[in-house]
Amino acid sequence: MDIETYVDDPQRQELVKEVRKKIDELGIEYLYLQFVSITGRIMGKGIPADHWESVAKKGFQLVYGATVNLFLNRHGEYFGYGPEAAELVGIPDPETFMQLPWDKRVARMYCTLFRNREEKQDPGGFLTADCRGNLRRLHQDFQKKHNGLQLRVGTEPEMMWLKKDENGKPAGGYSEPYCYHIDQFESLRPVYMKVMEYSRKMGLDMIQGDHEDAPGQLELNWMYDDVLRNADRLTTYRQICAQVAREFGIIACFMTKPFMGVSASGCHHNMSLWRGGEDHLRPTGNDPDNLPGMRENYMYVSGGDNTFMPDGDDPQMPGKAGLAAIGGIVHHLRALTAVGSSTVNSYRRLWDTGFWAPIFADWGFQNRTTGLRVSAPGRFEYRSVDSMVNPYLMGSTILAAADDGIDNNLDPGKPEERNIYEAIAAGKDVKRLPMNLGEALQALEDDEVVQRGMPGEMYRLYSEYKRDEWERFNHTVTEWDVKTYLNC
Ligand code: ADP
Ligand code: MG
Ligand code: MG
Ligand code: MG
Ligand code: MG
Repeated sequence: MDIETYVDDPQRQELVKEVRKKIDELGIEYLYLQFVSITGRIMGKGIPADHWESVAKKGFQLVYGATVNLFLNRHGEYFGYGPEAAELVGIPDPETFMQLPWDKRVARMYCTLFRNREEKQDPGGFLTADCRGNLRRLHQDFQKKHNGLQLRVGTEPEMMWLKKDENGKPAGGYSEPYCYHIDQFESLRPVYMKVMEYSRKMGLDMIQGDHEDAPGQLELNWMYDDVLRNADRLTTYRQICAQVAREFGIIACFMTKPFMGVSASGCHHNMSLWRGGEDHLRPTGNDPDNLPGMRENYMYVSGGDNTFMPDGDDPQMPGKAGLAAIGGIVHHLRALTAVGSSTVNSYRRLWDTGFWAPIFADWGFQNRTTGLRVSAPGRFEYRSVDSMVNPYLMGSTILAAADDGIDNNLDPGKPEERNIYEAIAAGKDVKRLPMNLGEALQALEDDEVVQRGMPGEMYRLYSEYKRDEWERFNHTVTEWDVKTYLNC
């Protein structure tokens, strides 16, 4: 879809008017027009709300490099976009309008990114470096191809609340490292209650929370929804935590493994494939002042048929479409690791297996030694993903793997019921996940199916950026080097 078709869409035009009404009713003065970089960072511009109609039509401009959020590689060369390149155009998606609960004069909206209208080549075309727009398109294509099959995802982001020292540097956890401990949960009450308040106001249906193994480590869960909507909510959740950290003068840490010898922060992705249910939208219903009418305040949950539900005699074994999709994910798990474990630091988690981090491309029921498990009838949990993940890229590459599984009826093999380490000791042959970022990027390069989840220039940008990150790390002399080798 090009920029003018998108802008002129009659349904969107109606929503643009709807947003004007909300701006006036709620007294909104300022709008954040947001998008997400390929590394998962939230980028964008702010505009005064009285310019809404003109920006809704023309969009805003920003350098193409903002989609990568770093312009130069370690050799001082540009990642694809030099200073001579035109600027991207971000067109706001009015259905994502949401007032910020911490300053009600401000509202945010996500944008879809396009190539500049003045470009010689493909003017106003879809910008393939836009991970959110890309996921939306690929999910629509997937639904068309598979007779309405849609992916719903629920994520479990773990993160740590850390104290700051006088220089603003992390100074240990805000609570003690006791897993599931109510007293430690209690010591974080002022913080998590604030997160809950903002989350519910922003359309996240919060369902549970607990204290995890590491200092200051919490996991708060909200209800799953279609893959795009959940990725938006995870992004919103990160924004909320950053705000709460500012209010409390602490750090909201989503880095995967900031401390040695204690658990890291995972972000399990639970998923299922559904048919129908679009007419079963129900309001999140958390906040009466919220914005009825906007899609953000509704969810699909449990409308339609879940193809992951068992359809045979076995009370756990997923139905046929589910099983084939799982087959695709198991089959492509090594390449998916480059997206799910996307940083150098991610692999510290995978090495420290004492904390149940999964390192094998195998699946089972309720078996926490495997990389993937059926965690409850009708849902399937991908466990090696961590909290630094870009959920849009994760969603689009999972779709690519599931699509291959369904097309080729890929068999995930028999579910592993044993402890996988013991099974391996007993001679089981199973693929190991990549154990560093370089190996994962190679697995991605070798997997054209997973690359389909990163079409256009997305794959090139992602791999160039991440290879550069890996090289920067490899040429860094660390404290550990000096300690270990200085007096050799
Ligand atoms: P765990 O037992 O692994 O700790 P949690 O209960 O913390 O799991 O989180 C489960 C997540 O899975 C929640 O976000 C929930 O909304 C989501 N979920 C539940 N059912 C489904 C489903 N059918 N498809 C996708 N996600 C689901
Ligand atoms: Mg400028
Ligand atoms: Mg959980
Ligand atoms: Mg957890
Ligand atoms: Mg889990």
